[in-house]
Amino acid sequence: MNTVERTKGNLIASALVCCAVVFQPTANAADANANLEPNRDQPMINPAASAQQATTITLLGTKGGTPDPSGRRAQSSTLLTVNGVHYLIDAGDGVVPRLIKAGVPPYTVRKVFLTHRHLDHTAGLTAFMSQSWFNGWFFHDKYYMDRSTTKPFVEIYGPPDTSTLFEGSMKFLSVLARDTDAPAFGTMKLPPEVFSVRTIEKPGAFFNDGTVKVTAIENTHFGIPMPGPIAKNGDFSFAYRFDTPSGSVVFTGDSGPSENITKLAEGADVLVSEVLDFKLLTTESREGVGITKAPNPEQIRFRMEQQHLSPEEVGKMAAKAGVKLVILSHVVPGDVSPKYFVEFVAAVKKYFSGPVILGQDLFQYSMVKQ
Ligand SMILES: [Zn+2]
Ligand SMILES: [Zn+2]
Repeated sequence: MNTVERTKGNLIASALVCCAVVFQPTANAADANANLEPNRDQPMINPAASAQQATTITLLGTKGGTPDPSGRRAQSSTLLTVNGVHYLIDAGDGVVPRLIKAGVPPYTVRKVFLTHRHLDHTAGLTAFMSQSWFNGWFFHDKYYMDRSTTKPFVEIYGPPDTSTLFEGSMKFLSVLARDTDAPAFGTMKLPPEVFSVRTIEKPGAFFNDGTVKVTAIENTHFGIPMPGPIAKNGDFSFAYRFDTPSGSVVFTGDSGPSENITKLAEGADVLVSEVLDFKLLTTESREGVGITKAPNPEQIRFRMEQQHLSPEEVGKMAAKAGVKLVILSHVVPGDVSPKYFVEFVAAVKKYFSGPVILGQDLFQYSMVKQ
């Protein structure tokens, strides 16, 4: 298997990773999208990605928690593109503009996988769906597609809360989709076949489209032994493994240390992991310094350290699982000096001997099957 990595912006990670080639994309986004062939039954192909049979990870948003006021990091979302077909993992705020910046029209993304209900993973879902419906299903496909073979246009997968989020988004869209706005175009009503939602009730393989198999396990984000009144309340948070013809990728989602994730990631090519350094958050980060003024900073500390992964814990899990590469995303704090990111990577490497990349928005990594 060959691996390459590329980015459309400045890349801190390039200095931190060995054994890979960094290059600039050869085609700009506008050129790459000019030849999109709309066909409902053959998923959208981005020519830039389909030039070879490849699995590409595009970090769309690498921020955990609140949006970054500097705009450098959007909230958490990642695009996996397998042989030109897109799979979106989480949809934090900023997912739509980041997709556009990555050269991917949002309506060409038709499979969405949410890890859990938190807003830094879901706040962009309605915006994403509005693009799929209005620019995709309504305008784009309306004039190109044979709708006699209607299928769900966008499929959304996730833990049980996903159906509640989905219903809320559908209510929002139904107000936008009143016929009175567009008599010239015929009905704008949102037909039920545009979107479908499927909740994952138990761990295991739940998706297989003939190219990509997806397996979910429950991680420890909502599984903490928490003193006090916070109960689990049916919350589920998942990690996902995507097995593709060009390699396997595991997304931790938000999680503390997790045997389940370690098992899921056994032998995987890439571990895309969240990372959080609580000390740094409360000493060097503008967004985190307020935590020290909260009435219960110790409880917050306990909770965040149990619910999230320190760089050292990421390194331990990656080493035990035997993955080949670690990409850190959902970086908390994400607004500190780059010198601390070097320390993040060094802390992972204390336990993991493979390459480690500190993710930035729009960073891309490709695996090509030989
Ligand atoms: Zn998060
Ligand atoms: Zn979370």
